[in-house]
Amino acid sequence: MGFPVSYYCPHCGAVVELERDGYLADKSVTPYPLEGWSYADPTDDFEDAEGVRFACGESDAPGLSWTGDVVDADDVENPTLASPCGREFYLSFVRYEDGREVEAVPESDYVVIGGGGPSGPSGPRGPDAGPRGPDGF
Ligand SMILES: [Zn+2]
Repeated sequence: MGFPVSYYCPHCGAVVELERDGYLADKSVTPYPLEGWSYADPTDDFEDAEGVRFACGESDAPGLSWTGDVVDADDVENPTLASPCGREFYLSFVRYEDGREVEAVPESDYVVIGGGGPSGPSGPRGPDAGPRGPDGF
C-alpha cells in the first residue's frame, strides 16, 4: 500500500514516520496551515486531502509512528522545547490548479511593514535617501 516517509516537527524537531502512498508529492512541513489548503487528520483518509495536520507526539493513526529521534535542523523553531511538544504542525501536499502548481503564500507576506503610506516600499528615511549616504543609515 504505502511506504513510510519521515518528517520532523518544525517546533521541536521530533521525528515522525507516516506511511502513505508514493504518488503524493510533498510541498512543505510548516508550523502553521498554508493559506488555501485544507488538512485532514492522520486518522482520516488523508490521501484525498491537500495536507495532514499532526499533533506532535500523537499517534492514533495506524500508519503514524514517532521514532523517538529529534533532529537538530536549522529550521526547527525551538530545539530546546521538550520533545514531543504536543503542538500542531502541517504537512502540505503539492496542489495543482489548471495543470500548474499552486504556490503557497507564506504567512509573513501578510505583514505590512510601515503602514503602507503613499511613498511605497522605500526605506524608513526621507524621500530622496537612495543608497546609504556617507553618514551611515
Ligand atoms: Zn514538536
